[in-house]
Amino acid sequence: MADKRDYYEVLGVSKNATTAEIKSAFRKKAKEYHPDLNKDNPDAAEKFKEAQEAYEVLSDDNKRKMYDQYGHAGVNNSSSGFGGFGGFGGAGFDASDFDFGDIFDNIFGGGFGGFSSSKSSKPRATRGSDLLMRIDLSFDEAVYGCEKDINLDVVEECDECHGEGGFDAKTCERCHGSGTITSEQHTILGSFVSKTTCPSCHGEGKTYQRKCSSCHGKGRVKKNKTITVNIPSGMDTGNRLRVSNKGNPGSNGGPNGDLYLEFYVKEHEYFTRDHDDIYLEVPITITEAILGCKKTIPTLYGNVKLTIPAGVDSLDKQRIRGKGIDNKSTGNKGNMYVIMKVITPKKLSKEQKKIIEALSKTNLDDSELTKFDKFTKENEK
Ligand SMILES: [Zn+2]
Ligand SMILES: [Zn+2]
Repeated sequence: MADKRDYYEVLGVSKNATTAEIKSAFRKKAKEYHPDLNKDNPDAAEKFKEAQEAYEVLSDDNKRKMYDQYGHAGVNNSSSGFGGFGGFGGAGFDASDFDFGDIFDNIFGGGFGGFSSSKSSKPRATRGSDLLMRIDLSFDEAVYGCEKDINLDVVEECDECHGEGGFDAKTCERCHGSGTITSEQHTILGSFVSKTTCPSCHGEGKTYQRKCSSCHGKGRVKKNKTITVNIPSGMDTGNRLRVSNKGNPGSNGGPNGDLYLEFYVKEHEYFTRDHDDIYLEVPITITEAILGCKKTIPTLYGNVKLTIPAGVDSLDKQRIRGKGIDNKSTGNKGNMYVIMKVITPKKLSKEQKKIIEALSKTNLDDSELTKFDKFTKENEK
C-alpha cells in the first residue's frame, strides 16, 4: 500500500486547528468528494474515504493525541509499533465514538434534501459492521504485552482486475453511460417520468466485455489472512482492543467496520492479579516470622530481596512499589503485594520438640492475646 498522507494535509488544516475547523474542513471535503456526487471521478471514493479517516482521528481528542505522537502507527492497524488498536482500546473504550451515519446525515441531511432518496444515484456508501473476536492470552502475554497472529477472512480488492470487476470497459449501451434509465409513463392523470438505476451496469455507466472470473465481477474477493496485532501490556479479562478497518466490508465504497478483540486472560500459578496490582503469597517459617528475615521474592521483573520485619503474622501485607503491571494501554503502573503465610511445622524432631516446649513454658503473652483472653472470659457470663 502507498504511504498514507498526513491527516492534517488531507483535510487542509494546520496542526493546531480547532475541532470546529476540522469539522468544517471535513464537511467541505466530504461534499467535494462524495462518491454519489462524483460519478465521473473514479478517485473521489478514495479521497472521500481518506478524508473520512482523517476526520475520524483528528476529531477525537485521544486519537488526535496518539496521531500527533506516533503518526499513523498510533491510530491504525499495522504490524509495527503501537499498531493494531485505535486509541488504546483498553477497558471502557467506546466502540461507537464515530458514527458514519450521523456525520452523513449531518452533512447531507439539510442542504441536500431529497438527495438521499433519489433513485437515480448509486446506492449510498455504507460502513461495514464491526466484528468481535475472543482472544485467549496467557498470564505473561497479558502482563508483558505480545504480538498475536489472528486469522481472519478479509475482503480485499481483487488482484486480477484491480477492483474493476472486469476487463475491456465500454460505455453501457443501455443507459449510454449515465447509470440511470429514464422511463415515461402516460396515464390519464398525466405523464410521469421516473428514473431508476440502470440494471445492466448497476449505475456504473460502463460495462465490461469480459467479467473477471476470480471475483465474479464484484471487484472484491474474500481472502483468508493472518494479521499481526500488537497487544499492549496490561490487558485484562474483558478488555477490548479495536483493530480499525478489519471488520466486515462496507458496501458501495463504504469503509470496513472495525474488529474488536476481547481478551480472556489465564491465571498464573503463583501471581494473583487485581487490575494492575499483583499479589503473591509467600510461605515463611515460624522462626522467620518471629525473628524477621531477608527473603528472595519473585516479581514480574525478576527476583528481589525483601526484608521481612520481626513479628509478622499470617496475612500481613508488604508492598513492593512499582512491581505491578506496567499497563501500556492505560499508562498506569501497579504495585506488588507480598502476603505472609506462616507455615507451622508438622514434623518435629525430639530435640526441636523440646525447644518448643521450653519456649511455651516461658511467658509469651502479648497485648493482643491478653485482650482476646479478656474477651473470652467476658463472653462466658
Ligand atoms: Zn447502464
Ligand atoms: Zn476481479
